[in-house]
Amino acid sequence: MTLPNPWSLTISEAHRLLVNKELSAVELTESVIERIKHTDSKINSFITITEESALESAANADSIISKGEASMLTGIPFQAKDNICTTGINTTCASKMLENFRPNYDATAITKLKSEGAVLLGKGNLDEFAMGSSTENSVFFPTKNPHDLSAVPGGSSGGPAASVSAEQCLFSIGSDTGGSVRQPASFCGVVGLKPTYGRVSRFGLVAFASSLDQIGPLTKNVEDSAFVLEAISGNDPKDSTSNTEDVPNYSKYLNDDIKGLKIGVPKEYFVDEMDSAVASTVRSSIKILEELGADISEVSLPHTSYALAVYYIIAPAEASSNLSRYDGVKFGYSHSESTDIWDALEKTRQHGFGPEVKRRILLGTYALSSGYYDAYYLKAQKVRSLIRQDFVNVFKDVDILIAPSTPTVAFPLGEKTSDPVQMYLNDIFTIPANIAGIPAISIPAGLIKNMPIGVQLMGSHHSEKMLLKTAHAYETAANHGFLKPSI
Ligand code: GLN
Repeated sequence: MTLPNPWSLTISEAHRLLVNKELSAVELTESVIERIKHTDSKINSFITITEESALESAANADSIISKGEASMLTGIPFQAKDNICTTGINTTCASKMLENFRPNYDATAITKLKSEGAVLLGKGNLDEFAMGSSTENSVFFPTKNPHDLSAVPGGSSGGPAASVSAEQCLFSIGSDTGGSVRQPASFCGVVGLKPTYGRVSRFGLVAFASSLDQIGPLTKNVEDSAFVLEAISGNDPKDSTSNTEDVPNYSKYLNDDIKGLKIGVPKEYFVDEMDSAVASTVRSSIKILEELGADISEVSLPHTSYALAVYYIIAPAEASSNLSRYDGVKFGYSHSESTDIWDALEKTRQHGFGPEVKRRILLGTYALSSGYYDAYYLKAQKVRSLIRQDFVNVFKDVDILIAPSTPTVAFPLGEKTSDPVQMYLNDIFTIPANIAGIPAISIPAGLIKNMPIGVQLMGSHHSEKMLLKTAHAYETAANHGFLKPSI
């Protein structure tokens, strides 16, 4: 029997071949690196490729496998978004400010993946400091959607989503502050999961908006998402907001049936202006879940329409504070020609940050300044509580919510770059889960005019087990398989 191309495998398929010694981790890594070389000139999803160290890690993985000590991710090649710190490997945040920043520590998520024997291939492109929805805000280059090279991959984890879609890695990890894992997953036809806030340690994730930031997996299917989540979750003393709850064996429950599961359809997510093809795709997904025995009902999250405004006060406010550390003194870019310390600070920030990052810093500084704090920041925090309470209330009646992931399919490159508000509107369906801190997953729901579109499931805090089980039941019944681009 001839083996499939190793780069085209899912995690569980690769694991089976690795432990049966039908494929070595080195062969798998070589195949994936070949695939990157063959495709990345078209999609530009990698900022850094770490070929040499990947092959070394793969050789180590082979020796772990030969001792019979392999776990699910041993020898599995992955990519990490370039705002997740990696020892000795540039972590640029796609910004001139951190172009040459080489951390001397790993993010906890990376430490955990390395300790499982997973093989780091390199770093994925993103919008500068994870601010954006199209990956066009990267200082290096925009990433392209593997399903249509003239369209965006979404953002800010556009590199990770495009890489998983083009099968340049078996999985990637991204960050989701306002939809940055789920929105690009929807646009590229892959599975993207934002865990409960605090489920995955934020240690080593370059801070954007600390009360919203969360690392999550991008994978070819739901089962792989469960494997990666299991590996990266858990309490971490280095992150004071990390949860102490035990990490369940998520993958073990994937095949449990969903008969009698109560699924709510929030009416505020189905507005008249919505793209009718997206609405009908979500409706077909609801039908599939109903046929699987789920009990569907309409519910209401009355404060939904305030979510975007709340996010665009709180996220920039936190960003303006977090990004004040880039002063050209301690690390990162430093402008060389300056007359004194103030001039140096000004020029470093003027030349080191791109336009969207500056826009966020200005918005955030304004919202926090005296005289405006009560009117904007404090009010946004109050409305945040109301949005959170909407979810607490609704989860008394239903187990899971279903909604679109994105209002449209991927749009053409350049279409929204001159209009920030149009760009922000992309996140309208993903932001509420960040505001409430609940887990949410985007799963491919099919194609609209040959472009992928995702459907989103949301659950109460720490309901990942149920969320993944529901997503898996849906994926199995929808039966369209991995939506391969023809790249
Ligand atoms: N697109 C959103 C923003 O620009 C979300 C970003 C994110 O989740 N990192 O803020």
